[in-house]
Amino acid sequence: MKIALVGIGKIAIDQHVPSIAASNDWELMATVSRSGTVEGVPAFNDLGTMLAERPDISAVSLCLPPVPRYEYAAACLKAGRHVMLEKPPGATLAEIHALNAIARDADVTLFATWHSRMAKGVHAAKAALAGKTIKHGHIDWKENVRQWHPDQDWVFEPGGMGVLDPGINALSIMTEVLPNPVHLQSAVLHTPSNRQTPIRAEMKFTSNVTASFDWLKEGEQTWEQRFTATDGTVVHLLDGGNRCVVDGEERALDALGEYPALYARMAELVKNGQSDVDLSPMVHVSDIMTLARREIAPAFDW
Ligand code: NAP
Repeated sequence: MKIALVGIGKIAIDQHVPSIAASNDWELMATVSRSGTVEGVPAFNDLGTMLAERPDISAVSLCLPPVPRYEYAAACLKAGRHVMLEKPPGATLAEIHALNAIARDADVTLFATWHSRMAKGVHAAKAALAGKTIKHGHIDWKENVRQWHPDQDWVFEPGGMGVLDPGINALSIMTEVLPNPVHLQSAVLHTPSNRQTPIRAEMKFTSNVTASFDWLKEGEQTWEQRFTATDGTVVHLLDGGNRCVVDGEERALDALGEYPALYARMAELVKNGQSDVDLSPMVHVSDIMTLARREIAPAFDW
């Protein structure tokens, strides 16, 4: 199947281009970007022109930041194209509900991707916790914004979500592996005095699940979750969900890896005429923004 990539920036180059190249399902036929290109692939700098000139391209994968994404997604869906959304799927919940309705009317696939859910250990963690009751849990998601989002000012603008942009990856895993849903009870957001979005966040959910997100972690990066069930089972996810240890025993994993698995899933959805739009991680982010106590942190500069 023929696909176009829109928004040729960090994640498109790091993950989407190699994953499409390695896929048996997809062929990259065009890019749309104001400045980015991919060698050997026809480049457009305007979405409308690409949609009009390339009716043979049936799917579009959007790698833009969340705020400009809605207009691009709506245009693709209305033009009868299947659409894949990078995480977070949009700037607001309402706009993703609207996209869902447009996709249904146009009878095309909409896939709101959560790449961290495809990390190699997530399936094993979910299986180990199935049917159990969570006694307590903790998530540490601590990384360096300067390494992963170099000079991307949009992450600190309204809708950019700040540390909740990587944090939503942790929440996408949590919502996948827990046997029952939890909801937010309290949160504290630390926002640099010169920015609009938080750089650090602490959260407390029901079932004694807590989470700590930090975007100023230097050196070794920490992406871990540990859940203990009432029967004593302990599930520990490490390396962003790519390693799973159950009761001290490392599980052997056999999975495609995050972005190759997303493109395989997209192919399956298109072939089956289905959509996959789970907003539960984004609901938690929205609740955090609604309920959190605010603290001012030192000014942040790149
Ligand atoms: P990025 O490099 O800053 O942006 C991607 C591209 O989007 C840019 O190169 C730009 O291309 C286009 N763009 C930016 N602002 C735009 C605007 N206002 N209107 C139209 N196009 C615009 O960001 P990224 O790191 O790739 O992140 C993109 C998405 O992937 C985000 O939702 C992020 O959460 C997700 N993601 C990022 C990472 C990571 O490690 N960085 C990991 C996983 C997922 P042109 O200017 O050339 O059009």
